Amino acid sequence: MRPSPISATVDFDKRGVQHGFLKLPYSRDDSAWGAVMIPVAVISNGKGPTALLTGANHGDEYEGPIALFNLANELDLAAISGRIIVVPAMNYPAFRAATRTSPIDKGNLNRVFPGRPDGTVTEKIADYFQRHLLPLADVVLDIHSGGKTLQFVPFAAAHVLPDKAQQAKCVAAMQAFNAPYGMMLLELDSVGMYDSAAEEMGKIFLSTELGGGGSATAATADIARRGVRNLLIHAGILVGTPDRRPSMDLDMPSADCYIASESAGLLEMRIDLAAAVRKGDIVARVHGYDRTGLAPTDYRAKLDGILTGRHFPGLVQPGDTIAVVAVPVG
Ligand code: ZN
Repeated sequence: MRPSPISATVDFDKRGVQHGFLKLPYSRDDSAWGAVMIPVAVISNGKGPTALLTGANHGDEYEGPIALFNLANELDLAAISGRIIVVPAMNYPAFRAATRTSPIDKGNLNRVFPGRPDGTVTEKIADYFQRHLLPLADVVLDIHSGGKTLQFVPFAAAHVLPDKAQQAKCVAAMQAFNAPYGMMLLELDSVGMYDSAAEEMGKIFLSTELGGGGSATAATADIARRGVRNLLIHAGILVGTPDRRPSMDLDMPSADCYIASESAGLLEMRIDLAAAVRKGDIVARVHGYDRTGLAPTDYRAKLDGILTGRHFPGLVQPGDTIAVVAVPVG
C-alpha cells in the first residue's frame, strides 16, 4: 500500500512535551499548496505504556476537545511514565466547521475505517490512524458526545468482543474512566468505526457519550477531564489517586433498546434522560405538523430500563433514533 500523505511535525519517539501537527496536504481554491493542520501533542517520559486520546472524531462533540486541549497544556512530565498521544480534534475540518462530518468531502470519520492513503481527506485521516497511530498505542480512548442531534446521560462505553480477555480489559478501563454511567454498548452500525479498527488490532479501547446537543456543560466537561486522568492512572502512565464518584452500570441486551421514528413531525418527549421506564410506557410522541386534528404517534419502551439517549432537536424525520433505553445491572 502507498505511504500516507500525512506527515507529523512531532517525533513520537522523543522524550518530552511536543506540540505540533499532523500535516495533510490539501490543494484547494484558497490555497493551491495548502494543508489541513491537525493539532497533536506528544508527552513522553521513559518506559511505560502508550495512550492514544482523541476527541472530535465527530466535529460537533465538545467534551473531548475541551478535556484534551486542557490536558495537553497541563500535564506534568515528571508525573508520567510512558507516552500520551493527544489529538483533541481528530476530524479537524469537521471540528472547525462545527459539523458531524467533514465539510470537504462529507466524510464521517467514524464510518470510513480503515481509510485509504489515496482516498478523500477523511479517508486519509482514517488511514493515518489505522496504520501509524493505533499501532503505537496500548490504550485507546475516543471521547464522543451526542453532537447537535443527540443527547445522552454521560456514559463511558465498552463493547462485547469475541476475545473475552480483551473485553475484560476494555471493561476495566471503562470502569476506571468512571463516568456517571458505564455502558456495554450495542452499536447500530459498527462497520467502518474507529472502535472496531482499534479492537480488531487487540487494543484496550473505550469510548464515551457525554451529553450532547452541540455544546458542552461544565458538568460534562468535568466528567471528561476526570475520566481522562482516571484512565491514565489506571493504565499506569500517570501518577496520582483516581477521583472516583458513584457510577451505574448499564447494558443493552438487544436492538429493542433503540426506538426510531417512522414519521416526520414534532417531537414530544414524555420522559427525560435518566428517568426509569417500564416496557410499554410511552417514551415519546410524534405529532404530525401539517394540520390540527391528527392523532399523534406514540413510541413505547420495548423493555424496562432508563432513558439513556434521545433525539435532541424538536423536529424528527422518519428513521431518526428518538430514544435509547438501557438496562441497569448489578
Ligand atoms: Zn460521535
